[in-house]
Amino acid sequence: MVDLRLRVGEKAMSEARAKAQHAAVIEVSRRDLPLSCPNAGTDPAALHPRVYIPLKKAGESAVCPYCGAEYQLKE
Ligand SMILES: [Zn+2]
Repeated sequence: MVDLRLRVGEKAMSEARAKAQHAAVIEVSRRDLPLSCPNAGTDPAALHPRVYIPLKKAGESAVCPYCGAEYQLKE
């Protein structure tokens, strides 16, 4: 039983990692600054306390520490 629970936990963790890796980069423009997450485009299932995403220069990207969403600032 212990072994089974361990395997299930590892499977869930690897699925979470795979989901984060496959999440599309969310492109934002300067008019979206200051950017915070969650925002209108955030999956309702991934809602979390609001956090400021520090983006200043075009081409920069930052990852939300709560939900793993990756934001990139367009020109
Ligand atoms: Zn987030």
